[in-house]
Amino acid sequence: MATAKAYGALSADAKLAPFTFERREPTADDVVIEIKYCGVCHSDIHQARNEWGNSRFPMVPGHEIAGIVTAVGANVTKFKVGDRVGVGCFVHSCTQCATRDVDLEQYLPGLVQTYNDVEADGVTPTYGGYSDHIVVREGYVLSIPDNLPLDRAAPLLCAGITLYSPLRHWNAGPGKKVAILGMGGLGHMGVKLAHAMGADVTVLSQSLSKEADGRRFGADHYYATADADTFTKLANSFDLIVCTVSSEIDWNAYLGLLKIDGTMVIVGVPENAIPVHAFALVPARRSLAGSMIGSIKETQEMLDFCGQHDITAEIETIDIKDINDAYERVIKSDVRYRFVIDMESLF
Ligand code: NAP
Ligand code: ZN
Repeated sequence: MATAKAYGALSADAKLAPFTFERREPTADDVVIEIKYCGVCHSDIHQARNEWGNSRFPMVPGHEIAGIVTAVGANVTKFKVGDRVGVGCFVHSCTQCATRDVDLEQYLPGLVQTYNDVEADGVTPTYGGYSDHIVVREGYVLSIPDNLPLDRAAPLLCAGITLYSPLRHWNAGPGKKVAILGMGGLGHMGVKLAHAMGADVTVLSQSLSKEADGRRFGADHYYATADADTFTKLANSFDLIVCTVSSEIDWNAYLGLLKIDGTMVIVGVPENAIPVHAFALVPARRSLAGSMIGSIKETQEMLDFCGQHDITAEIETIDIKDINDAYERVIKSDVRYRFVIDMESLF
């Protein structure tokens, strides 16, 4: 076993602080990765603060991992030392389902999350990417295309796939009017991806302060949700709304922006339940749906799509000692558009 240097939270009230732990011994099926960069997802904050009520401590967050392979087990065929790789939100899943090749493993029992979980043995805690290295089974390691810099590619491993998957599933493309609600870490990836897929893209943000950025990322239209007129102007407009907001909003007002048969997909996960009125759905056969990250196969497809279209995240790189300040800035929507930790700063 090798000792990992990391930053972790000891309890829901504690600030993140230096923490060391033993990574599990690599097996013949494992890839050992030196972590170069790790993105800071809003889910890291929800979980480090136990906002979803399922946190395990101590916790080392981080599931937007980009790095370099430093060792491979005897059975590994897809990766070699020196390869540029990523790890996303999970590191194992139900092997029976994987054998059946359903490619929806993120929704099946047996999923082992990259952190805040236990390995398939039921006891060994998983610790995430705010650390110097990680040991992951080959089947859960992704290839990062050569033209994508590792720091800007790291957020694709969660923010990227979380938007790519619903955009593909609900057929974002030419002739489709797609709204991205909230232009933070997930949302700005949604704008870039939906634009590259050929959809007509609208950003619904709290204010117009990020409009120039949104248009640079590929938005065709940009509206402030603080302006009540927005809801009148855009009533019955969209085929698809992807909601990335991490706190409570007026769900019924947003559902009114969908066309007949339109779908609003929830990817943001606020702490509290969502109140929805039947009249927001019934008179226009609208759907309210949810979506969670994507399968390993779809994540690789997304990375290759990003490689072809030269799509990466807009990032602010931070030293790991500044992680607690970064969390506060994410909560205030004061990040352009994803914090990424430079893991050199651990040393
Ligand atoms: P983020 O960077 O904080 O972005 C959230 C955005 O929501 C903000 O930038 C802001 O956009 C908007 N927003 C925040 N508070 C708001 C409010 N009170 N009213 C209206 N809009 C508000 O967070 P993120 O990392 O993108 O994550 C977003 C959510 O997705 C989190 O809840 C996270 O846990 C969840 N998530 C889900 C999945 C999944 O698989 N489903 C995966 C990853 C993350 P504007 O400034 O443009 O208004
Ligand atoms: Zn995430």
